[in-house]
Amino acid sequence: MTAMGSERARETVRRLQADITSGRWPVNSRIPTEAELAAELGVGRSTIREAVRSLAHLGMLEPAPGRGTFVRSLSPVSGVLADFAAAHSWSDLLAVRKALEVQAAALAAQQADAAAIERLRAAHESDSDVDGSVERGQAPGQFHSLLVEMSGNRLLAELYAALVRALRGGILRGAVSSDQSAGERRGDHAALLAAIAAGNPAAAAAVASSHADRDLVVTD
Ligand SMILES: [Zn+2]
Repeated sequence: MTAMGSERARETVRRLQADITSGRWPVNSRIPTEAELAAELGVGRSTIREAVRSLAHLGMLEPAPGRGTFVRSLSPVSGVLADFAAAHSWSDLLAVRKALEVQAAALAAQQADAAAIERLRAAHESDSDVDGSVERGQAPGQFHSLLVEMSGNRLLAELYAALVRALRGGILRGAVSSDQSAGERRGDHAALLAAIAAGNPAAAAAVASSHADRDLVVTD
């Protein structure tokens, strides 16, 4: 790569990173296509591809083959944190994840607005293939990411994203898997949704706690 080329690549990474941290593309949203970004930034598609790869390595973006590229984190910290977390046991990871889920559920019940609750309801209703998604290493899914977003606590959401990223390796290897049927899982999610919609933090925390004990467990 020429000096000019590498400078252009670094500048492209900086601009995409600024679009993510500024909230232009919120967490879990899909960014524009490679061709659209190339046209907008006035660089070649290969420069965009390279920049997306760098940001994916940092844990900020995640390419989903055939579906586009999604924002996973607003800062590079969660990528570094995921590597750090991955050096710990699956049971330690699951215990910290449970603590974050319980706190997120209570905070969401305290403060979620009607629009956020409707988004969570929509995620719940479209979540017909949860067991399949666990098998494909995508757990714990859109419902949980949305719930954590609804805590309104950015730090909690970033820590959670890092843990999920670290746990994915365990799910793909079968070391971590669900102890629930799709029906049981849906029942738990419905109860969580109801507690949050009712604005009941104690009930939301209790459901989140029992759900976290079952939806992902260490299988070894
Ligand atoms: Zn769940």
